[in-house]
Amino acid sequence: MWRGENTSKTLEQCAKGSIGGTLIYAGEKAASYSTTPGIGWAAHGLVAIGSSVRENVAQDYDLFERVAYDLAFMRLSIGSERSNHGSIFQAYALLGPFAGIWANLAQGNSLNWQASLYNGNLIFEATEEQYFRPNDNDEQSYGIANVITIRREGHKYRDGKRADDYHADQEDLARSLEHEQIHAVMYREFGSVDVLLEEWEKYNRLKQRFHLSLGGDLGYAAIVGISTSFPHELRASEWNASNLDHK
Ligand SMILES: [Zn+2]
Repeated sequence: MWRGENTSKTLEQCAKGSIGGTLIYAGEKAASYSTTPGIGWAAHGLVAIGSSVRENVAQDYDLFERVAYDLAFMRLSIGSERSNHGSIFQAYALLGPFAGIWANLAQGNSLNWQASLYNGNLIFEATEEQYFRPNDNDEQSYGIANVITIRREGHKYRDGKRADDYHADQEDLARSLEHEQIHAVMYREFGSVDVLLEEWEKYNRLKQRFHLSLGGDLGYAAIVGISTSFPHELRASEWNASNLDHK
């Protein structure tokens, strides 16, 4: 997607883009240590700045001309008027986290305020049996967009049968929270897809009117849709997250 007029311009763009990629990687690695208070926020910050740099390079803006940060279900963006839809500050609604909130509330899960404040995204605890996947709910935790659900205790079902009771210990909970936190910051990375829609002039007016940041969610939905046909451990985001997990 570069607009290199010549080779040196292209190389320059590539170099700038790799700065973004490095920051994103650092942020995702940081997320794998997010049971340390404050690290979750740092992870979000690094991935937000890295993704913003990459978006700015793709749109031929200055490296830090616009920075967009996801706070729960909002994308807050600060930048020059030309890069930020005519205003220094914009707030957009993100559909993915709304879907995550809805799924958790529908299942009777409760928000863990303390964990959410520590990490900078919404973290729910599964207090009831999950009917999200009533026949096979083997997961100890899962993420929808940047919304995390942790299960402390309950029953696991396999093929519609109650397989076992479980009570996660603190160590297990910490590891699965950190794993899901990597997925949560990855969601901001998907947000970069939004710049493709920004390039589509007609979409600008839609965006201005409804203040949605749809591109990232469309990308996220496409990836989730494609990956559901693959076993859990073969999904690209899973492979990536498992490599970033610290043991
Ligand atoms: Zn995972």
